[in-house]
Amino acid sequence: MYPHSKRMDSFRIVTEFTEPEISALVHPDWFEAFPWLSQGTTTRGLAGDSPFDLGLFGETSRPQEARGRWSSLQQRLGARGVVHSQQVHGADVCEYDEHSSGISGLDLVDPCDGHVTSIPGLLLAVTAADCVPVFVIDPERRAVAVLHAGWRGAAAGVIESGVKTMVSSFASRAEDLRLHMGPAICGTCYEVGPEVFAALREPVPDRPMPIDLRHVLSERAVRLGVSRDAVTISAHCTVCTQSSLFSHRKGQGERHVGYIGIRG
Ligand SMILES: [Zn+2]
Repeated sequence: MYPHSKRMDSFRIVTEFTEPEISALVHPDWFEAFPWLSQGTTTRGLAGDSPFDLGLFGETSRPQEARGRWSSLQQRLGARGVVHSQQVHGADVCEYDEHSSGISGLDLVDPCDGHVTSIPGLLLAVTAADCVPVFVIDPERRAVAVLHAGWRGAAAGVIESGVKTMVSSFASRAEDLRLHMGPAICGTCYEVGPEVFAALREPVPDRPMPIDLRHVLSERAVRLGVSRDAVTISAHCTVCTQSSLFSHRKGQGERHVGYIGIRG
């Protein structure tokens, strides 16, 4: 028995729909409920086209081509600017307020793994290929965040840092927040060594075992005061579902993007 599989049903599993214009996987309930919200995870794009690789920092990416794709994404989403950074598997979360409102085009900020804002027209973006893009919204105060969470970032406390930044920056209340654990490697495909369980303070097995990182992150959010009903987990896996996503574990160097923003 996998350590976490029996608890999977305690969070709602959501299957994103593919937004054809952007070729992105979009949360269906949020799309219906929050017309002011722009949220999704890009895919590798249409068959026949070159992969929609948005990686800017990897060894396989060609930055100039990737920058063109970022520009295309921004235009198709109608955003004034996009904020992104090199990700370091840490817990630092950056906030963009009215003083950052001059951001236009692609703005690469100092390395960090999370971004928050309440400024309309600004898109926040993390890249992933198995790691979890975590989307956070506060519908009451109309503020949003996106976090990049692999096991190292989860262990470093990126979800705690993201929620705390929402609370300190926007006076968000944890019970008002909604979180979505986006497309990522699933709890069947993601086998890791005992040291990963130990780093995450989960029960430590005596041999490599699969771990459901999105479930671990969801439980951490609940411990911060987020309502269990307010957390959803994507049905898409970067490895085992036909979701047209990139997977580091499958040897792919490309990156898809999790984005969130308030429409301008
Ligand atoms: Zn899987």
